[in-house]
Amino acid sequence: MMETDTITAISTPIGEGAIAIVRLSGPDAVSITADLFDGKDLTKVDSHTINYGKIMDPETNEVAEEVMVSVMRAPKTFTREDVVEINCHGGMVSVNRVLEILLQKGARLAEPGEFTKRAFLNGRIDLSQAEAVMDLIRAKTDKAMSVALKQMDGRLSGLIQKYRQDLLETVAHVEVNIDYPEYDDVEEMSHEMMKKKTKEVHDEIEELLQVAKQGKILREGLATAIIGRPNVGKSSLMNTLVQENKAIVTEIPGTTRDIIEEYVNVRGVPLRLVDTAGIRETEDIVEKIGVNRSRQVLKESDLILFVLNYNDDLTEEDRKLFEAISGLEYIVIINKTDLPQKLNLEEVKVIAGDRPIISTSLIEEKGVDELESAIAKTFFAGDIDTGDLTYVSNVRHIQLLKQAKQALEDAMQSLEMNMPLDIVQIDVTRTWEFLGEIIGDTASDSLIDQLFSQFCLGK
Ligand code: GDP
Ligand code: ZN
Repeated sequence: MMETDTITAISTPIGEGAIAIVRLSGPDAVSITADLFDGKDLTKVDSHTINYGKIMDPETNEVAEEVMVSVMRAPKTFTREDVVEINCHGGMVSVNRVLEILLQKGARLAEPGEFTKRAFLNGRIDLSQAEAVMDLIRAKTDKAMSVALKQMDGRLSGLIQKYRQDLLETVAHVEVNIDYPEYDDVEEMSHEMMKKKTKEVHDEIEELLQVAKQGKILREGLATAIIGRPNVGKSSLMNTLVQENKAIVTEIPGTTRDIIEEYVNVRGVPLRLVDTAGIRETEDIVEKIGVNRSRQVLKESDLILFVLNYNDDLTEEDRKLFEAISGLEYIVIINKTDLPQKLNLEEVKVIAGDRPIISTSLIEEKGVDELESAIAKTFFAGDIDTGDLTYVSNVRHIQLLKQAKQALEDAMQSLEMNMPLDIVQIDVTRTWEFLGEIIGDTASDSLIDQLFSQFCLGK
């Protein structure tokens, strides 16, 4: 599936940066650049060298930009094609001019993700690694970034390949035994071997899925809703969280209208403040949209911050809210502790059970540290440690792992029931296929197109 044309794009973020890089990939990457380059003959320089010179504007014959050009010849490049990177120094106008000239000279503007797609199609990286490139671009915190980096590194791919290999060998082994039965008990031996292998792989996948929830949170943010009666301090809490933890605003490409989301980084956990418009004012959540609709919003949250007033009795409305969030993940925040106590703390403790209860005075900036610890601890026991674990953070991967696990459970059940091995093999083969989809081995073209279309330009 080699692509034959040469693509180009600005591969650094658009905006005011000191340096911008225009990247080319494809068979004519070097010759197109060499034509415009005033300096060494780029078609003759060694691979993986950086060359100083000028890009000349063919229309005016003037210098368009002073540049450093990296020449990297196939196959030791990101795309496994010839790659040229032009480092420009002169701001967006001249960078755009360089891009324009390259397009006039026969390069084609790359589609979003096309560089990475070529890397994938040319076998340089697998699909889960390509998705990690995208995660890296979008990472909200350094923890999320380290998860993506590891996945890009091929950690997850390595595990998946090992499971597939194990399953494949078992299937092959069993097949040989069935075809050449030298002993009478071959069938039984094969059963035992299958049992052992399917259980092994099953347990490892289960382990991956157990930490997956954390990975998903690091990648996508913890969907967090702030609820409570009017005037308890919800807006104050929101503002405190946003001010203390630099808010990160991300644009999500790939939708017709780019969605803008707000994140705050709480001890490495990206908090996504959900439906801020609706939740900023409780009035909306409970009274205006009604309990049913608000239940829906709450269900879609990973974490609920439920604010109570220390200076007020527990009301019927508070009890209703407690009821609405029972069974969900929540933290009780007792605010306004600088005022005299009216709230019956014992009653709150009984209702909240084992949920954390944090006292704050937002006006005096008290209790916020404790609250942040409690938030981080809800999903990560203690500090977040991305050191040793392989996090599966991508919903697509999690889905496929679940399907693989289910197929293995089907196989295990058939083995328990002493079903014939060729029946068992069907489920083992399904497992093998589900795992293959993660790394793109058995992924369809339309899936691949859809995944790569979510990328940013220039990647
Ligand atoms: P919301 O309606 O739940 O969003 O509540 P707000 O955040 O708008 O706060 C309502 C009022 O309570 C404002 O006047 C805040 O300044 C005040 N407030 C918020 N937190 C505290 C607190 O810890 N102590 C006191 N005394 N007042 C607070
Ligand atoms: Zn408010």
